[in-house]
Amino acid sequence: DLAPLRRALLSVSDKTGLIELGQALAARGVDLLSTGGSAKTLRDAGLDVRDVADITGFPEMMDGRVKTLHPMVHGGLLALRDNEDHVAAMEQHGIGAIDLLVVNLYPFEDTVAKGGDYDTCIENIDIGGPAMIRAAAKNHGFVSVVVDVEDYDGLLAELDANGGQTSLAFRQKLAQTAYARTGAYDAAVSNWMAGALGDVAPRRRAVAGTLAQTLRYGENPHQQAAFYVDGSDRAGVATAQQHQGKELSYNNINDTDAAFELVAEFDPADGPACAIIKHANPCGVARGSSMVEAYRAAFQCDQTSAFGGIIALNQELDAQTAEEITGIFTEVVIAPGATAEAMSIFGKKKNLRLLTTNGLPDVKTGGMTVRQVAGGLLVQDKDNGHIGLDDLKVVTERAPTDAELADMLFAWKVAKHVKSNAIVYVKNGATVGVGAGQMSRVDSTRIAARKAQDMAEVLGLDTPLTQGSVVASDAFFPFRDGLITAAEAGATALIQPGGSMRDDDVIAAANELGLAMVMTGMRHFRH
Ligand code: 5GP
Repeated sequence: DLAPLRRALLSVSDKTGLIELGQALAARGVDLLSTGGSAKTLRDAGLDVRDVADITGFPEMMDGRVKTLHPMVHGGLLALRDNEDHVAAMEQHGIGAIDLLVVNLYPFEDTVAKGGDYDTCIENIDIGGPAMIRAAAKNHGFVSVVVDVEDYDGLLAELDANGGQTSLAFRQKLAQTAYARTGAYDAAVSNWMAGALGDVAPRRRAVAGTLAQTLRYGENPHQQAAFYVDGSDRAGVATAQQHQGKELSYNNINDTDAAFELVAEFDPADGPACAIIKHANPCGVARGSSMVEAYRAAFQCDQTSAFGGIIALNQELDAQTAEEITGIFTEVVIAPGATAEAMSIFGKKKNLRLLTTNGLPDVKTGGMTVRQVAGGLLVQDKDNGHIGLDDLKVVTERAPTDAELADMLFAWKVAKHVKSNAIVYVKNGATVGVGAGQMSRVDSTRIAARKAQDMAEVLGLDTPLTQGSVVASDAFFPFRDGLITAAEAGATALIQPGGSMRDDDVIAAANELGLAMVMTGMRHFRH
């Protein structure tokens, strides 16, 4: 199953490594064929190259839209070398076999990422490249196809290991990669068009990504896993730089994403904020006059759960905060930067992973979330819903104080990032109780209060920190029981969407207890 490599066609937009590859192929006796810009690059480096236009008898035309779309090219890629008829057709038409195709496509994804206008994006849809890639990949019984600059070295190693030939297994792997590339390419085009047309529910939807990392295992050790990136430049776990510690695991990536997206709710211009995440839910979120104060306040919410957590900061990691964080075992810290001193403090903790990003993502930008269900995908707009003071409707006899309002808005932002049913108690810009993922809202309310009681014991306090707190609920209270539980825990004010059939009864209960309550009119389910 070894196939010889006598002639190669090189047609690349990204010219990285092209000259070295051309030289290495020429040194192995391979004839080179190439298109306009690629041929020029190779020729300028002193290599002997034949132009595709020379074998097709047609010039490249229409701004490069038509370069390689010709039987002299596609016949050379597609002909079965062991089929008499195919060989006869090649002889009859003077078609020469092409044994290797090296193509990387017009940079469509980059053009979109850089905000190219409609026409520029359209012009960056490669036509001849994917056609050749698909042809060569189909004929992997004889032809090798390389679509990534990173695969050049592997190709040369394969040739050297097989006396200038390639093995079938190698060509199959290249073909699989090639179809993934053309599939992803067209998916990117389709997704861009859906966005340009403002259509979240097109007739067909493609999802694509590029392998960033194979993971040691998935959520559990018996599950294989990998991390794919979509090429977006959103600041976050996919684009962060890791400075130290082991490779991120599947769960780390998931939790780090949850942590960073949550902390990004808090504008750094309004001061430092810190979020500590366990199993994708926050176990402490706080603002502070300094980052170390924010961390301490977040940690105080639930010191037990914070062990082995993932921490996200909305500002640079400084030395004092770094020192404080190393007080307990933490899996990952992610921040938009870290001082040299902070990095050297972390350097002593070999297992602690530090990730820095280039800034915070804008949580108000749109996007898509995709979730798999048996037999399909659920697609929706990202939850980038936001409310401000002006959107709040006071529904109780007592209006909230300014301090309560500030804490309510804080609690509301946190609740958006807690699995439903989400209940978040907040006091002085810090969570003091989080109830997540329960099947009944009243249970979430109770659990958060009980955890605050546990923390009071740990901290040696007479009354739990929920005393004098405010409560956010990600969706309406269906009955008065949840509200009563919150009041019993010491809450004085509540923020919730409203919209229940029994809103009147819930409001009446709030008035009876002297609570202040505001409604947002917006829900933040998260499952
Ligand atoms: P070059 O810089 O060599 O002139 O162009 C290389 C690029 O042209 C590659 O990205 C390749 O995929 C693309 N390409 C090759 N043939 C065709 C074609 O017939 N039509 C279009 N639109 N692009 C082509």
